[in-house]
Amino acid sequence: MIRPDTVLVNRKRILQLNGRKLLQGPVIYWMSRDQRVRDNWALLYAFEIAAELNTYVLVAFALTGSFPGANLRHYGFMLRGLAEIERMLAAKNIPFRLVTGNPPESIGMLAKDVKAGAIVTDFDPLRIKKEWKNELVKIIDVPLFEVDAHNVVPCHIASDKQEFGAYTIRPKIKRLLNEYIEEFPEIPASVNIGNREGVKGTNGRVLTTPTDWDAVKKILFASINTEIREVTWLVPGEDAARTVLDNFIRNRLPVYNERRNDPNAGAVSDLSPFLHFGQISAQRIALELIKTSPGDQNSEAFLEELIVRRELSDNFCHYNPFYDSFEGFPSWAKSTLHSHRNDEREYIYSKDQFETGSTHDRLWNAAQGEMVTKGKMHGYMRMYWAKKILEWTSSPEEALAIAISLNDKYELDGRDPNGYTGCAWSVGGVHDRAWGERPVFGKVRYMNDKGCKRKFNTAEYIKTHLNQRS
Ligand SMILES: Cc1cc2nc3c(=O)[nH]c(=O)nc-3n(C[C@H](O)[C@H](O)[C@H](O)COP(=O)(O)OP(=O)(O)OC[C@H]3O[C@@H](n4cnc5c(N)ncnc54)[C@H](O)[C@@H]3O)c2cc1C
Repeated sequence: MIRPDTVLVNRKRILQLNGRKLLQGPVIYWMSRDQRVRDNWALLYAFEIAAELNTYVLVAFALTGSFPGANLRHYGFMLRGLAEIERMLAAKNIPFRLVTGNPPESIGMLAKDVKAGAIVTDFDPLRIKKEWKNELVKIIDVPLFEVDAHNVVPCHIASDKQEFGAYTIRPKIKRLLNEYIEEFPEIPASVNIGNREGVKGTNGRVLTTPTDWDAVKKILFASINTEIREVTWLVPGEDAARTVLDNFIRNRLPVYNERRNDPNAGAVSDLSPFLHFGQISAQRIALELIKTSPGDQNSEAFLEELIVRRELSDNFCHYNPFYDSFEGFPSWAKSTLHSHRNDEREYIYSKDQFETGSTHDRLWNAAQGEMVTKGKMHGYMRMYWAKKILEWTSSPEEALAIAISLNDKYELDGRDPNGYTGCAWSVGGVHDRAWGERPVFGKVRYMNDKGCKRKFNTAEYIKTHLNQRS
């Protein structure tokens, strides 16, 4: 029997989601949020179990054409990343299977078909992913293990409750960081017994023939919104993510602290689309930064965003079932927004007017243009953009719904805990404190274009992004 030389994955990263016992049979890694081969704790854990069962790992991805908010822009980026994953796995003799349909059903059927011994998947705090896992455990008779492969400190370990803000989660994360920020092991050759003949289903059909990605795209693109074009300035995939990281460390990190709030400066990393699709691990990014510029103020500022703020977003969505609605706001914010419900608004715009960038404010329209065309609005402008939606709609509920819907539709990194938390921060004071009271906002923090003008050259930003809408 093949045994791993050592334990690969810290057991605290892993939760078993049902009470089933391991059976003899291949281990399926249901890859979902963490779409990468390298630096993936969930994949590594699948190998640990496979070694125990003396079997191989089958990586499966469940593609559904009805993921809320997703369109051609997102699917295009994701599919190109998945095609690369299939190639990388093949080079390591690890079988890959793309299944389609309702994800829990298709993974459940695959597990039956290959007589799987266990299923491993990655952690995701979003509602739909939790529902999928709940559905899957009802139809399988093997264990389902969930591994937090996205956060440096696993979400359920960092805290067991919703945190008030960065100031409460930061010390918890920092205390645990040393234990979790370890170098990733390679998949040891001794545990990868591979499967050269191809994985066969119960009827003898080989399930792991190479995926015809063009055919997949043709079928998928016939059923989804294809109006929002793919972007060309960012190449998806693990290798491309690594190039973007190396480039950032070399050229932009040295000015990150000073210039990250200037949307004209190009000082941010542009890593969020890769992080969203799991094409790079946040832990890998952190390890590289610590290696190249330990203790440096730019690294410290960046790691605060990458680890503390990002993991705070996962904490919010994991522990607050109302992460995308008014109900999820803190009580002080709900009460102040309630008392300013009937305040007169200077402007009121419809969703369509926002979407087409037709407000009176050229700076806002430019931000909308950046998002629509580029698929990634600068972080500083995202705050201004969402706060103005609150100011120019009839209710905070409507403002939140419009902000989330546009964010999810156009941002490549949308449909992410960071997006729901960012919108809830801007509109509903989540993770923030009460500020001086003013119309419409009540005590929710206000922002205006004067603040932007103090930080950067707004005329240049407008010139670059206005009228570039597709
Ligand atoms: C209204 C609003 C909507 C947002 N929507 C999204 C979204 O859909 N997806 C998304 O990933 N982020 C979102 N953010 C957070 C932030 O704006 C983006 O993560 C950031 O702009 C991504 O660009 P970057 O990778 O170049 O950032 P960098 O400054 O290079 O930061 C590196 C990484 O740190 C993390 N990070 C940075 N800022 C934040 C933050 N404020 N909160 C949490 N994590 C952060 C991200 O993972 C980011 O990729 C939103 C913020 C607001 C206010």
